[in-house]
Amino acid sequence: MIDGVRVGAVAGIPVRVHWSVALLAWLLSWGLATVLLPEQAPGAAPAAYWAAGLLAALALFGSLLAHELAHALVARRAGMRVEQITLWLLGGVAHLHDDAPDPRTEARVAGSGPLVSIVLAAVAGAGALALQATGGAALLVTVATWLAGINAALAVFNLLPGAPLDGGRLLRAWLWRRTGDRERATVGAGRAGRVLGLGLVAVGAAEVVAQGDLGGLWRVLLGWFLHSAAQGEITGARTARRLAGVRVGEVMTPDPVTVPSWLTVAGFFGDHAQRHRHATFPVVAFDGTVDGLLAVTDTLRVPAALRDRTRVRAIATPIARVPTARSDELLVDVLARQRVAPSRRVLVIDDGRLVGIVAPGDLARAAVLGEVRGAAPAPAADRPRPADRESVAAGR
Ligand SMILES: [Zn+2]
Repeated sequence: MIDGVRVGAVAGIPVRVHWSVALLAWLLSWGLATVLLPEQAPGAAPAAYWAAGLLAALALFGSLLAHELAHALVARRAGMRVEQITLWLLGGVAHLHDDAPDPRTEARVAGSGPLVSIVLAAVAGAGALALQATGGAALLVTVATWLAGINAALAVFNLLPGAPLDGGRLLRAWLWRRTGDRERATVGAGRAGRVLGLGLVAVGAAEVVAQGDLGGLWRVLLGWFLHSAAQGEITGARTARRLAGVRVGEVMTPDPVTVPSWLTVAGFFGDHAQRHRHATFPVVAFDGTVDGLLAVTDTLRVPAALRDRTRVRAIATPIARVPTARSDELLVDVLARQRVAPSRRVLVIDDGRLVGIVAPGDLARAAVLGEVRGAAPAPAADRPRPADRESVAAGR
């Protein structure tokens, strides 16, 4: 998952911004201030071009946010949990905790974003016409026209039929309704997304090579991102099928080696780090409650002089930020939590007691065993799987 700095919340949904947004804002403002605006509205001061360019870039981020909010709010109304919205270099993502319960909801959630972009394009276009008719500043007319165009492009591009684009979700909803098989629909939409991504890479590369147009690099990047995201969804769907019906308790490593929270880093090096070849250790308090998860790499942050004064509790990731699960939970429901955790580990806690840990190796083994056993007789048709709603900025 793309991380970012939390900048606020809209309707209770946290909004995060990745640092790469600053790069996108600069690229957009630069393109507008030095090329498009001087061309369309000549005679203004450079500062005015830059101000208008920045205004336009900010308005685009507002548009992207509105697009993602549409996905998030429609999903929430349908009872799906929304984690957050992230804006980044290639657009926006609405992170959803749950998969849609049925094809109709999937289609509604997917369609809402492009619909909002179309409405915004119409509003910006009408604004441009109104400004022009009333003799408004040429700069503002150009900015409004640009916004109309880019929102329309956003809607059209995101409606292309390949996952993870909105059009791919619509395709998935259609396949799902036709076949009644959620996982097969995901794989179908993912394959279309893979083709779409490769096509975009080819078009971008041709633009760079044949026309010397560096803007093609943007399409290469976008296409590559789409291809890998689509591949990720296909893999995810197959994993979900292999792991259908498997409970956390069946794959976890039971009774992991723990570290007492009061132990010093020096004590940890003298004992646990020597005896056990694990990369992480759950940190457990005197009364048996789990305080957090210590990665061996965490200890590198402690200078040698402070090792006998620093307790492992102070440097471990606090339990509130470590993904946890119950042993009777379905493994596929836990996968999303595992994927976003920096340590890629899930602590299994039953009634406040640590009973196991799920590490990437446990998942790999479970997937292999699932493959050997063959797909479960009942397909994972009712397994909710999270699916982020991505939108990508089609322009440069
Ligand atoms: Zn979207």
